[in-house]
Amino acid sequence: ACAVRGPHVAMLATPGMGHLIPLAELAKRLASRHGATATLITFASTASATQRAFLDSLPPAVTSLSLPPVDLSDLPRGAAIETLMSEECARSVPALTSILLDLKRSTGGRLAAFVADLFGADSLDAARAAGVRRRCIFFPSNLHALTLILHLPELDASVRCEFRDLPEPLRLPGCVPIPGPDILMPLQDKSDPCYRWMVHHGEKYRDADAILVNSFDAVEPGPAKILRQPADHRPAVYPIGPLIHAVGRRDDKDALCLEWLDRQPARSVIFVSFGSGGALPTEQMRELALGLELSGQRFLWVVRSPSYEGAVNDNYYDAESKKDPFAYLPEGFVDRITASGVGLVVPSWAPQTKVLAHAATGGFLTHCGWNSVLESLVYGVPMVAWPLYAEQKQNAVMLSDGVGAALRVPESKGREKIAATVREVMQGEGKGAAVRAKVAELQKAAAEGLRDGGAAAAALAEVVEGWTTTGGQEED
Ligand code: UDP
Repeated sequence: ACAVRGPHVAMLATPGMGHLIPLAELAKRLASRHGATATLITFASTASATQRAFLDSLPPAVTSLSLPPVDLSDLPRGAAIETLMSEECARSVPALTSILLDLKRSTGGRLAAFVADLFGADSLDAARAAGVRRRCIFFPSNLHALTLILHLPELDASVRCEFRDLPEPLRLPGCVPIPGPDILMPLQDKSDPCYRWMVHHGEKYRDADAILVNSFDAVEPGPAKILRQPADHRPAVYPIGPLIHAVGRRDDKDALCLEWLDRQPARSVIFVSFGSGGALPTEQMRELALGLELSGQRFLWVVRSPSYEGAVNDNYYDAESKKDPFAYLPEGFVDRITASGVGLVVPSWAPQTKVLAHAATGGFLTHCGWNSVLESLVYGVPMVAWPLYAEQKQNAVMLSDGVGAALRVPESKGREKIAATVREVMQGEGKGAAVRAKVAELQKAAAEGLRDGGAAAAALAEVVEGWTTTGGQEED
């Protein structure tokens, strides 16, 4: 008897580990729960060692390939990352079409669906041209950000001023009101091409059959209630999260961080990290160092080289920081914390999920990248929010003003304020205690949703059902 073979799914990850990691988790879940196989397609511009090692660690059901490089040399220097990703995707449509046609042949008609992530909306055209019947968007951020993007075509017509000049916070259906300056960074300057790109994506999302979102109801109940209902003007929305990078076995490269954590008391350490691309201006790096020392809490800090001219996403296209980041720390800082044993600094990269899962970790000072937030919630770690770019500021608003899973560091970013916020989240009896209790509640809700029969598991099953019941492929 021949084995029953499940559907094959082609998935396009736009640049950034923060996009690739959750998409790969989705692929793994489709394989383990639904018998699917997947091809992860990446862009040539981000072929880093970190990315390669990650792709090589995936199970055999998930293979990967890279698109050929496209020329972006005509784009102005300093073009926004959202513009670069959108342009790279749009210019890759012909190459992607032929890759999908090849996959269709090589998988013997099993290619049932194409899934693109948030900046990959133009690639839905390639899937259509290749005759892949089911075309979906995987949105690795949250329902608040999705609501905003889906409303962009009408907001573009109705909001005349810059978002940052809005006299009142922006109110969208079910969402926590977002003050203008905290709205999605690529929308902050309407004259920048990345603003147009975002409006374009908002229009293009309507062409998808479904939008899968890496979030869950309990963390944003307002928009969940609205987006779970079918509506004529947009595709069906399925909250299927939190899908996070699974904690693997400890290996040699983890030893530095994890063995240090092994020696610390339970819940005593605040983990400090700004994601795969974040960078602080030198001055803020200093204040953070001194603020952590002042807080009297133990800390584990992933230190990156500082940003130049305020470009807070300086490390985006390269997860390994190029210069020695420790050179920018205040004089004597590393020696002092090493001597007292109160802190550990590591350059560039740490095994984040393993750190968050460790019993010694009791807080997370985070840039509020959505993967980091989900990882924190899955492991029940309360957060200190220090957002930098992308949708991180609005994430900080929904987490602190909305559900109450984080406290935000005040805008002035002085060492005293930093120390006070860190102390409150780790040990405070007022706001800090409320945040710790809320995070424990969300941890439970997240786990329940992913269990068999839970809301997230059921949502994904419904999506897969839609792929397979139609036979999955257009006749051509
Ligand atoms: N990450 C990590 N080690 C680091 C920094 C980041 O493992 O030192 C992982 C982190 O666990 C998360 C992803 O990289 O899965 C970052 O995604 P996020 O959405 O938080 O932020 P982005 O990098 O997109 O800004």
